[in-house]
Formats: sequence, structure tokens, C-alpha cells
Amino acid sequence: MEWEPGAAKELEKIPENVRKMAKMGIETSVERKGKNTVTIEDVKEAAERVGALMGKDEKTTKIAIVRCDIVSETCPGVACFKAFNKRKIRFSEYGPDAEIIGFFTCGGCPGRRVYRLVDSLLRHGVDVIHLSSCMLMESSYPKCPHLDGIRQMILKKGVRIVEGTHH
Ligand code: SF4
Repeated sequence: MEWEPGAAKELEKIPENVRKMAKMGIETSVERKGKNTVTIEDVKEAAERVGALMGKDEKTTKIAIVRCDIVSETCPGVACFKAFNKRKIRFSEYGPDAEIIGFFTCGGCPGRRVYRLVDSLLRHGVDVIHLSSCMLMESSYPKCPHLDGIRQMILKKGVRIVEGTHH
């Protein structure tokens, strides 16, 4: 993804602790428009939409986590919450105002529940959805055969994805 000089300069105004996250969100938004260059207008548009990422107001970053329904039978999700509470691993980019507003399972293969629940989360202002580490592992648990479909379901709704939680 290319950045016009003006857009890159605008990005530098964003506090360093959330800049990487903001950059990813802007690039996802630009990709959805079918473009491969970020303009200053894209940055300003994103700033209005995700004010929290720009650090210009106190809007809370709202996070949801989707996890594997099969794994949820044996895992209460403690490691995901520990990582978030301590802002570690995949949550290290968030500031103190971030909060988890949803923690849900895919509903079982092939994960169709994700589509409906993302709609619900959008009504509550979700900014980003983390794919839990259990969905991404290939050794401890069987690899999810529907991961790409689940990713697409979320991205088509316009929500940014972060890969992983506590690994
Ligand atoms: S779709 Fe993937 S994440 Fe969901 S239950 Fe099946 S294997 Fe687990």
C-alpha cells in the first residue's frame, strides 16, 4: 500500500502508541475502496470514523474476540482476557481506554454465526475483532478449515481484524 506524502505526514500526528493500529485500519478501509494509495482525505475520513485511533478525543476503542466453538468446550478464555488486561501480546498496541465489548464463539463449523454477531457488534460500535489464538494454531488444536471464510465475513462488514490474542 502506497502513502501520499501528505497522508503520511498526517499519520505522524497520531500518538505513537496507537499509530500502528490506526495505519492498519486506514489501509483496510482504502483497500475496501479498491485503491492502493492512501490520500490525506482517507486519513481525515478515518479520523472522523475512528476518533479513538487518532487520539483527538477520548472515544474508547471497542474490541471483540471471536473464538473456536470446539475449543470453547475446554477453554474458558482466561488467557485471552489476561493478555488484554495486561495489554500484552496482540493487545499491546491498545491504550488504557480500550475495552472488550464482546467475546463469542463462531457457533461451530463453518462459523456462520460470525456474520450475524458482527452485525450486532457494529450496533454497539465495535472497532476491531481479534481472531483468538486458538483459531490460528496448527499444532495444539486442529487447524480451522474455515478461517479464510470467517475473515472475509468480518472484513466485508467493514471491521478491522487483528490476528490472535495471547500467542
Ligand atoms: S469454524 Fe473454525 S473456529 Fe469455528 S468451530 Fe470450526 S474449526 Fe473452530
